[in-house]
Amino acid sequence: MSHVIHRSLREVPPVADSAKGIFIRDSEDNAYIDASGGAAVSSLGHGHPDVLAAMHRQIDRCAYAHTSFFTTEVAEQLADKLVAQAPPGISAVYFVSGGSEAMETALKLARQYFYENGEEQRSVFIARRQSYHGNTLGALAVGGNEWRRKAFAPLLMDVPRVAPCYEYRGRGEDQTVDEYTQDLLDELESAIVRAGPEKVIGFVAEPVVGATGGAIPPTPGYFRGVHALCDRYGILFIADEVMCGMGRTGTMFAIEQDEVAPDIIAIAKGLGAGYQPIGAVLAQGAIVDRLRQGSGAFLHGHTYVGHPVACAAALAVQQVIERDKLLAQVAKRGLSLRRMLGEAFGKHHHVGDIRGRGLLMALELVHDRPTKSPFPASRKLHAKVKEQAMARGLMVYPMGGTIDGQRGDHVLLAPPFIATTGDLAEIVGRLSESIDAALRQ
Ligand code: PMP
Repeated sequence: MSHVIHRSLREVPPVADSAKGIFIRDSEDNAYIDASGGAAVSSLGHGHPDVLAAMHRQIDRCAYAHTSFFTTEVAEQLADKLVAQAPPGISAVYFVSGGSEAMETALKLARQYFYENGEEQRSVFIARRQSYHGNTLGALAVGGNEWRRKAFAPLLMDVPRVAPCYEYRGRGEDQTVDEYTQDLLDELESAIVRAGPEKVIGFVAEPVVGATGGAIPPTPGYFRGVHALCDRYGILFIADEVMCGMGRTGTMFAIEQDEVAPDIIAIAKGLGAGYQPIGAVLAQGAIVDRLRQGSGAFLHGHTYVGHPVACAAALAVQQVIERDKLLAQVAKRGLSLRRMLGEAFGKHHHVGDIRGRGLLMALELVHDRPTKSPFPASRKLHAKVKEQAMARGLMVYPMGGTIDGQRGDHVLLAPPFIATTGDLAEIVGRLSESIDAALRQ
């Protein structure tokens, strides 16, 4: 019997024993292609020698120094690198240990900004129904995953919610993309006005939706409209790039492709690429300047802020991405993956949508393609796809549940940036067999 509280309390998963490149091997010597990068984490694959060497060097030099006493060279270098790559105006970085902590930190930084600004009445975050921002109480409160929220609802702050930008299901047949986008922006504006603009701290959204629905990119102009509304009403735009950031979509930040510079950006997953637990919050210089002039400190902190080994791993990951020109490769391989998915599933009766950006791609599985009707929850199709894929040595990230009133089954792919076109073809082939086997079950 295992004493670990696993994700499922009813079964113990296989034991991961070793990992190299795009493969993880279990203790019974089965090899799995990591086609989801875990949960969109392992962007360089496993066992990358340059990242391991950087970690070893840092462990030997200084494995830990608490930030109330010291900074470290690696933390400073990593912050410099992130700022140099970030959208215009971003000039400050706060390191944490993961995505939920990053979102929690982002919310508190936004609140403290207005507190220092003499606007203590601001306490409301507006978010979207289709979203996942983490499992700690603040992050869970702004998130829109009902299944994850349900048991904890009485503990969560009230968050007004607007519709996600989910063209496949949201856009009416008689609507153009621009009309649909404008409707969404009108809804956001109404939510801001209803909450009272002087009470709102910010709007929170994932530029490309990840864990709730899978790889859903915004419509063109959506985030430009969001940003314009936030500016008009003097509220902050907080972009959650925990999943879609750090090169996953072919640019360092997904929001770059929407030509918007958020006030605050949360990152994690691909930052340390799984070699160490690390996340970060990036902020516009003006936000941190206000704290500097006020309390003189960010009223926040964790024991492992700026952990040197985590920073060394993340710095090495970013250096490899730059040296090996992996952003361009992600953009290119993303197009290949999209083409292969189109060939395999473009006419499949049970695949309603193929979508994504770069190497963050997803399929939406439906009962009936023309009407987009979903499979019933009782069929547990997404779980069966995962089971069938694991049996074929393939890791994909399946999701199922009710999103914005619609039930759905989705399969997310987030292969390592180092995957070759041959690897991608193998992934699509195994996925195709897995989906068909799950449908037959
Ligand atoms: N935000 C987004 C967009 C995420 O995808 C996730 C993780 N799936 C989180 C926040 C939370 O990150 P973590 O699991 O590292 O706490």
